[in-house]
Amino acid sequence: MITLENVNKVYHTKTGEVKAVNNVNLEIEKGEIFGVIGYSGAGKSSLIRLLNGLEKPTSGNITVAGKRIDSIRGAELRKARLEISMIFQHFNLLWSRTVRENISFPLEIAGVKKLERKRRVDELIKLVGLEGREDSYPSQLSGGQKQRVGIARALANNPKVLLCDEATSALDPQTTDSILDLLVDINKRLGLTIVLITHEMHVIRKICNRVAVIEAGSIVEQGEVLELFKNP
Ligand code: ADP
Ligand code: ADP
Repeated sequence: MITLENVNKVYHTKTGEVKAVNNVNLEIEKGEIFGVIGYSGAGKSSLIRLLNGLEKPTSGNITVAGKRIDSIRGAELRKARLEISMIFQHFNLLWSRTVRENISFPLEIAGVKKLERKRRVDELIKLVGLEGREDSYPSQLSGGQKQRVGIARALANNPKVLLCDEATSALDPQTTDSILDLLVDINKRLGLTIVLITHEMHVIRKICNRVAVIEAGSIVEQGEVLELFKNP
């Protein structure tokens, strides 16, 4: 589902060059929950921006859902990006819009008709367990509920890949667990490929099949979570 071959990303700054991603090779299978773990500054955000086509690599090949995301542009890139959805640490909801309107937003952009939008939003609200909160505003929701809105919005256009950028880092441990349970449920039900980027080991241990450890832009270890992080 996702392949990275010899991927490099170099930023040019006033003080010189920063190699944010250094010769990364990764293969993520369809339907997998794959974790990328690293400290702050390791290159996780840079990697995400490459995976969702927001930035081009300095060199190397990136294929996501069958598309060479590193080399396509314009309308072709916009179309490919519909297959790649994201959820965020701070949810990135529209604060002056209701739960229903937030979830409906990507459908409006995609040109889905009103009646079909309503049907789809109802289905998504059920999927993420937000029945009864349709007309609430984000400020009236708990952190966990806000992330459920984020997840429903991310799934609206039936993506093939869900990128989770520190998606539970702003949540307390109990809420984190309930959001991770929801991600597992969605992964099973929809066969969605999930890439989870985090600095939190327990998040990886709880739901990931495989993990890559990133340090100073390089993958220093990768493999089965149970093998890599087994207690000695
Ligand atoms: P993480 O998400 O793991 O904290 P980042 O990908 O944000 O790591 O950063 C990796 C390295 O690349 C850091 O040294 C950071 O300062 C640098 N970096 C990230 N984005 C830019 C940018 N747009 N311009 C210059 N340097 C950047
Ligand atoms: P719109 O007018 O399109 O409904 P808003 O003006 O409410 O959207 O918000 C625009 C963006 O600003 C949103 O994507 C949201 O992430 C951010 N934003 C707005 N209000 C807040 C807030 N109180 N706290 C954090 N982010 C906010």
